[in-house]
Amino acid sequence: MKEEIKELILNILFPRFCLGCNAEGVYLCDDCKAILDISEYRYCLCEKGAVRLPNQNQKGKCQKCSSKKLLGLYSSLSYKEKPLTRKLIHFFKYPPYYLKDLARTFASIIIDHLLLLGEKPEQLLKGAVLIPIPLDKKKIKQRGYNQSEEIAKEISKIVKTPVLKNILVKIKSTPAQMELPREKRLENLKNVFACQNAKAIKNKKIFLIDDVYTTGATMEECARILKSAGAKEVWGIVVARD
Ligand SMILES: [Zn+2]
Ligand SMILES: [Zn+2]
Repeated sequence: MKEEIKELILNILFPRFCLGCNAEGVYLCDDCKAILDISEYRYCLCEKGAVRLPNQNQKGKCQKCSSKKLLGLYSSLSYKEKPLTRKLIHFFKYPPYYLKDLARTFASIIIDHLLLLGEKPEQLLKGAVLIPIPLDKKKIKQRGYNQSEEIAKEISKIVKTPVLKNILVKIKSTPAQMELPREKRLENLKNVFACQNAKAIKNKKIFLIDDVYTTGATMEECARILKSAGAKEVWGIVVARD
C-alpha cells in the first residue's frame, strides 16, 4: 500500500492530536514545535556546564574531553527546559502510549537543528552510516521497537544515509543507566555492547543515534567499541540532552 494512503487510513482510525495543544492531525503542530526552542548551538560532550563550540568546525569537543572516543554530539533539545520535550519523549517510549510514529517528528527536529547550525544535513551525513544505540532483546520485546532505531530510520529517509542494524549489539541486559548513581554507570556498561561485523564499519564515519543523552556513558562506550573495531570517526546525534 502506498505510504500516503496508509497514513490517511491510520489517521481516520487513530486520529492524531498535538501533544502540546490538542490540535487534530499531528503529534506536534508547527506552533508547538516553535516553542520547543530547537538549539542553534553546538555544545561539548562534557557533563556539567557543557562548553559551547563554534557552530561549524571540525572540532566537536573541548580540550578537557579530547581523550574521549566520541568526537562530538549534535543535540536538538534540552530535556529539562521544556515540559513538552519530556512529554514527547515519554509518549514515544513508555506505556501505555508507545507512540512509535513520533520518531518522524524527532527526525524532523534533528534536521531542523542541523539547519539552524548552518549545516547542510545531506552534506554532513554524506558517506557516513547511522547506527542506533542498541537495546537488549527483553526491552525490544517489551516496547515492540528500539526507539533509537526508529529515529535513525526516519533520519535516513530524509538524508539517504544508510542505517546499519545489528552491527552494534547489546549482549547483556543492564539496569537502566538513569537508575544508577554516576560512578556505577561506567562499570554497569562493561562487556555490555559488542560489534558483530567489524568489516561493515571499517574506516567509516559513524553517527550514533539515540533519544536522550544523559551522562554520555553509553554513547562513549559504544564509540569505544566501534573505534576499536576499526571505525574512522564516531559522532553522536540525539533528540534531547539531559
Ligand atoms: Zn500544538
Ligand atoms: Zn568537553
